[in-house]
Amino acid sequence: MATSLRAEIGGRVLEPLDPGYDEARTVWNAMIDRRPRWIVQCADVTDVANAVRFAAQHDIEVGIRCGGHGIVGHAVPPDGLMIDLRPMGKVMIDPTTRRATVQGGAMLGALDRASQLYGLATTAGNVSHTGVGGLTLGGGMGWLARQHGLACDNVTAFRVVVATGETLQVDAESHADLFWALRGGGGNFGVVTAFEFALHPEPGRALSAEFRFPLERAAAPMRHWRDLSGTAPREATFTATISGGLVSLGLVWVGDPDAGNARADELGLRLAEASEPVESSVEHLSYLELQTREDDIEGHSWRRYWKGHYFRELGDEVIDALLDRGTDDPPDVSLQAYGGAIADVGDEDAAFSRRDTAFEFVAASRWRDADDDERRISAARRYARTMDDFASGAYVNVLGDDGEAGLRRAYTAEKLARLTAVKDAYDPGNLFHLNQNIRPSGR
Ligand SMILES: Cc1cc2nc3c(=O)[nH]c(=O)nc-3n(C[C@H](O)[C@H](O)[C@H](O)COP(=O)(O)OP(=O)(O)OC[C@H]3O[C@@H](n4cnc5c(N)ncnc54)[C@H](O)[C@@H]3O)c2cc1C
Repeated sequence: MATSLRAEIGGRVLEPLDPGYDEARTVWNAMIDRRPRWIVQCADVTDVANAVRFAAQHDIEVGIRCGGHGIVGHAVPPDGLMIDLRPMGKVMIDPTTRRATVQGGAMLGALDRASQLYGLATTAGNVSHTGVGGLTLGGGMGWLARQHGLACDNVTAFRVVVATGETLQVDAESHADLFWALRGGGGNFGVVTAFEFALHPEPGRALSAEFRFPLERAAAPMRHWRDLSGTAPREATFTATISGGLVSLGLVWVGDPDAGNARADELGLRLAEASEPVESSVEHLSYLELQTREDDIEGHSWRRYWKGHYFRELGDEVIDALLDRGTDDPPDVSLQAYGGAIADVGDEDAAFSRRDTAFEFVAASRWRDADDDERRISAARRYARTMDDFASGAYVNVLGDDGEAGLRRAYTAEKLARLTAVKDAYDPGNLFHLNQNIRPSGR
């Protein structure tokens, strides 16, 4: 079988004893240690189509790898065939039409760098080594989202290899049902070999303001921070982190630095009315610096666990619960404001759901030693569970292995029904099931 696969692929086909195999199966979360039978490093669309046909013909489980940052490691099929898209990582910019054509295996950093050469940008996530593929197909939250919508809201067209091996051009006119589903429905419907994104003029100036408080004095300033977030201009994304005994309240601003400074000052003053911060900082950055500043802290080779929620509002009782860190080794917490252009898009316009979210919450743990797995995971779960009652849903790209229950948190029942109909049309055999899986009806 391996001989026939190799004969059909222009790129490399790796098996367990081949050089490069271990690097290619290693993903961001060091908890994932799985061994595919083949890793097909696709050089072009033909390779993708041939790999899909081969897997379908021989009934082999398929995983799709772009940046390898999916927390549960769906990209790596144990004993299956991994479609490794990373050799297809190019980004081409047309400054006249303000469009980026991005191959399906590109990283966010490549998209940001290429766009900024022309003073342009589109919404991308906060860590440059994340893949455009997984991030965009699940939604794609970033510092420009309140101005320009999520990454998926900026996609104007996809090229997709579907389960038959056929390549489709997908946009608002052609395969409109699939165009709807790919904007939030994840990797359920095929392998995206190219995305076309709308770009926006973005001179590349950014600012990050942070004010830090000890946990026991953080409740009152956090209420002011929440109130100001509700009326903030779209250039501002309010952020908070809780780590150890410190709570950091702040904002990230992309746009005119003077206006950003004024907002940071206003926030600092309001917070200080409630309590004096122990530390504060206002950092001016280029947009590209902003987009890479978390690259190291969010680096590879740590064991990781996440649990996420969406909050429609951050009532006083939610703030109190967030600050009640009563477990051993509680996870780090981050909150990031939604709203603005994210909420301008109609709920029915794309598969992505929960556009009325005010804040996304992620509880995240990282550690090195496998002996700590159980302790760290249960501490993170325990803490996140105390937020369950306040949650209005969850972001599909931070779900764990939560099966149907996770899907119901990410999508409404109506959306799930519509996603199932699209799945029935394009992947009735569920070839693409290693994802937050929308099962075809009857399966
Ligand atoms: C360090 C870090 C920072 C993050 N920051 C953000 C952020 O700022 N904003 C945000 O919204 N999310 C963020 N995320 C979450 C991120 O969106 C998801 O983890 C996403 O799945 C990562 O995509 P990937 O391509 O890197 O991962 P992969 O593991 O390669 O892919 C995940 C899944 O996506 C599907 N997929 C990927 N590429 C394709 C493709 N071309 N065609 C079809 N299916 C495909 C497959 O089902 C695959 O299993 C972050 C994650 C990490 C680890």
